Amino acid sequence: MAEIGPLRLANFIDHFFYSVLELDALEIINFPHPTLRHPSKPITRVDSELQQIVTEMFDLMYKAKGIGLAANQVNLPLQMFVINLAAEKGKGEEMVFINPVVSAPKGSAEANEGCLSLAGVEAMVSRPDQIHVSAYDLSGRPIDQTFKGFLARVIQHEYDHIKGVMFIDRISASEKRLIEGEIEEFELEFEAARAAGTIGSDEEITRYIKDIEKRYCS
Ligand SMILES: [Zn+2]
Repeated sequence: MAEIGPLRLANFIDHFFYSVLELDALEIINFPHPTLRHPSKPITRVDSELQQIVTEMFDLMYKAKGIGLAANQVNLPLQMFVINLAAEKGKGEEMVFINPVVSAPKGSAEANEGCLSLAGVEAMVSRPDQIHVSAYDLSGRPIDQTFKGFLARVIQHEYDHIKGVMFIDRISASEKRLIEGEIEEFELEFEAARAAGTIGSDEEITRYIKDIEKRYCS
């Protein structure tokens, strides 16, 4: 078993013993799904299944024409997100951030943001213009870099996600009033999906989250 920083790269036998956990099929979950509000835990093991999860996250992101996707947006309570500003497979640069820590914010900029878990909703969000990020990539190599401008914004949006924060938490009261109706539609859709049984109860979701954490965060 390879030790790379705090990440363990599991070998085949390790993976074999752990492969009892059945993952739900990955799909993007929408506001106000509770996993979007669950603060994600650091990842302590990277196995072939996690690598497969990352591939699927990119695919889901491209299908939705997005540029960033956090693990808890696919119902996985893990400190991980993927970004590709090109929003298209085979173009741009695919970036994976595992266990990120954002620090040293500088400056301030305002721009329009949207979110794959609130598709169609947009609002102006003010954020630092520059940040420093320490993280690991999917191979366990450390990332230790300063980011500026649009990419810094996208990283902060995704970093918020893994803390259980969404961009609508960071907008002004007047901006919020403009999107109130759209937010309410997402709430109604969530209630309807729950009533139809396509989204589990809070207890079922908590159980699923605990299973995932047991596998990847302990
Ligand atoms: Zn988002």
